[in-house]
Amino acid sequence: MVAFACNLCGASREVEQFATEPASCPCGSNVRLRALIHLLSLEVFGRSLPLPEFPRLKSIRGLGMSDKDCCAQLLADKFDYTNTFYDREPRFDSSRRDESLWGQYDFILSADVLEHVGPPVEATLEQLCRMLKPRGFLGVTVFCAPSDKLREHFPDLREYRIVPLGESQVLINRRADGTLEIRDDLIFHGGTGSTLEMREFGATSLRQKLCAAGFHEVEFLTGNVPECGILFDHDVSQPLIARKERFAMESRTIAEFTDAYRAAQQEAWSGQESADRMRLAASSRWVKLGRRLGVGPKLE
Ligand SMILES: [Zn+2]
Repeated sequence: MVAFACNLCGASREVEQFATEPASCPCGSNVRLRALIHLLSLEVFGRSLPLPEFPRLKSIRGLGMSDKDCCAQLLADKFDYTNTFYDREPRFDSSRRDESLWGQYDFILSADVLEHVGPPVEATLEQLCRMLKPRGFLGVTVFCAPSDKLREHFPDLREYRIVPLGESQVLINRRADGTLEIRDDLIFHGGTGSTLEMREFGATSLRQKLCAAGFHEVEFLTGNVPECGILFDHDVSQPLIARKERFAMESRTIAEFTDAYRAAQQEAWSGQESADRMRLAASSRWVKLGRRLGVGPKLE
């Protein structure tokens, strides 16, 4: 039996067989989703909190790229967060240059998406980087081949369709020079259609491309965090964070946090068993967060 506390739903779980990709908690979380929440929490709060314990900070703006529903709803409760989709509303095509989105986001989450966006992947990475605020960050999970080689499956993709032919699907592409290309060596992830694998990254090439797109720092977080149910094996997606400058809360976010902190403090004071409540409040990780940010009085 493996015991862990799911950082998506906050519940304690025990599983007999620990698989990495299938959900290992009834809430729907798997290793890479928990790794993404772990990464997000560390970057924003400086410690790994379960998502239900995140303070509610609506001045932090985030965007998800096809995040799982179970995760997206909780994030939308905590932040000014919008989950987006490639093929339905709210729609977001990362490969399209859109200046109206530039400088708008504190964080963008891209869980197993970068291997599916159309070439050139550089256009997507640059658009994502530009969409972030100067201290914004990109949280990614992506499979990186142990060979550390980037394999772009369809480098000449221009105008294309995936069409059924007999039992399988084929890709028909008209290249930039007008010639036609037909391919049947297609790899789909979790379905067909928009989940065609366009490339397989190597960690080195991904780091180089992120830096070329304007990110200053790329950090892979591939260490196991068993207490959160994050145990990697060879074929699991790797989590990484790509930063412009290191994340720091804006003054309006600190103000929002201060207000929430003081409200919680007043609630604790107003109770009959105030001493007990204060001890409880003082020991909560939420309050410790406040201390880290220099918010609120000493409680013990
Ligand atoms: Zn869970």
